[in-house]
Amino acid sequence: MDYEVIIVGAGPAGIFSALTLADLGIERVLLLEQGKELDQRQRRNSKDMLCGWGGAGAYSDGKLTLSSEVGGSLGEFLDQDSLNQLLTAADEVYVAHGAPGHVFGEASAELEELADRARLADLELIPARIRHIGTENCRSVLGHLQESMAGRIETRTGCPVQKLLAEDGQIRGVRLADGQNITSRFVVAAPGRSGASWMKAEAKAIGLKTRPMPVDIGIRVELPATVLKEITNSIYESKLIYYSKTFDDKVRTFCMNPYGEVVTEKNDGITTVNGHSYAKKRSENTNFAILVSSAFTEPFDDPIAYGLYIASLANLLGGGAIVQRLGDLLTGRRSTKARIDRCLTRPTFSEATPGDLSFVFPYRHLLSIIEMLQALEKMAPGVYSRHTLLYGVEVKLYSNRIDLSPEMETRVSNLFAIGDGAGITRGLLQASASGMLAARYIAKRLKE
Ligand SMILES: Cc1cc2nc3c(=O)[nH]c(=O)nc-3n(C[C@H](O)[C@H](O)[C@H](O)COP(=O)(O)OP(=O)(O)OC[C@H]3O[C@@H](n4cnc5c(N)ncnc54)[C@H](O)[C@@H]3O)c2cc1C
Repeated sequence: MDYEVIIVGAGPAGIFSALTLADLGIERVLLLEQGKELDQRQRRNSKDMLCGWGGAGAYSDGKLTLSSEVGGSLGEFLDQDSLNQLLTAADEVYVAHGAPGHVFGEASAELEELADRARLADLELIPARIRHIGTENCRSVLGHLQESMAGRIETRTGCPVQKLLAEDGQIRGVRLADGQNITSRFVVAAPGRSGASWMKAEAKAIGLKTRPMPVDIGIRVELPATVLKEITNSIYESKLIYYSKTFDDKVRTFCMNPYGEVVTEKNDGITTVNGHSYAKKRSENTNFAILVSSAFTEPFDDPIAYGLYIASLANLLGGGAIVQRLGDLLTGRRSTKARIDRCLTRPTFSEATPGDLSFVFPYRHLLSIIEMLQALEKMAPGVYSRHTLLYGVEVKLYSNRIDLSPEMETRVSNLFAIGDGAGITRGLLQASASGMLAARYIAKRLKE
């Protein structure tokens, strides 16, 4: 065997897997990453945004969600105590490598009062404890993690894995894009969202079953930070759930960025919107997503294609992302540059095309979004202002879920699948924790 363990993908899941193996004394571990070295990545390059040493985490907002209900489905694999211990262990690694000490959203009387206000507005507040690294600090934390691994883990960047090599129900190693085969006793696949279609194809090729996950479609809302100041000061990010009146669809707030900026990203070549915030630099606005999750009618089973199709309509009509004042949407007219110039919310993303989101979203989604904004208005007056800006489309695509054991092992022996690419996590901390979980088990097996 060339190596004991090969890890595919150097995002948080792959990095934490490698670091845990090294800490447990496992040698001959190879970490393969298709993208560039951390210090070679450029924010403006859309491929570098998601790929390269550090994975999608490198340019993320760096919000570590410490609550087990949010950020993934590891709760389906572990009991509550074990999951809490695992998340704490992953969080401690981040803190030891430079993440700030402060945690937002600790239990308090203020939080209780917000939860009561949410209930009165027909909303459910999901308490979430958050450690905010901040976009500008993510790279330095990742840099420290890289230093910790130096000399203990062999890493190759610019090295896409083409195939997983399996024989008789057992993993044997990987084939690189240049045709070279590398053998190992264990393989950990951690390809993230950007490697989801590769993972799906490889799973199929070696006989692993996968199932599609729902897609969440919605908008990014931007408003003056003062509207949500009371909430964001005490809990930083409020995760609120609403069931829409007309369709009874689950609608939720997601990725709230106090004093942040709206940004775009590429999803399979389609421009979609997102948001982030810096730990120190501040804009005047807060942004957050409103996402609608709906179950599709049979026989349809390709939610990702549906999500991308809706997002592509905004690109078709606006040449990229579209922005609209809520007042314009409600009065049935498009936003224009002149109307956006008069808007009391100054857009932080000025390249979005003023347009009409009612041409983009199905009735079901648009109505659910409007009903959610009305509910939020009861909790935080000012949200339903005609000067609130709506950017479209925000879409959350989740990788197909692979059938896994509680230790993250697939039905092919010694092949593990972790992080967002396995369809089991949706955030930095759970992705990192899944890497630790697999690594601990592999180390135990190697020492037997
Ligand atoms: C803009 C943005 C902001 C975000 N903000 C937050 C946040 O604030 N908080 C939060 O919890 N989460 C956030 N997320 C989500 C978070 O970044 C991901 O959940 C997390 O990075 C998933 O980790 P991962 O290791 O599973 O996958 P990734 O981070 O996607 O890493 C996978 C790596 O595998 C590599 N790879 C893929 N296929 C191959 C292959 N065949 N061969 C070799 N390498 C391969 C990729 O290049 C990539 O580097 C954000 C995401 C984005 C895009």
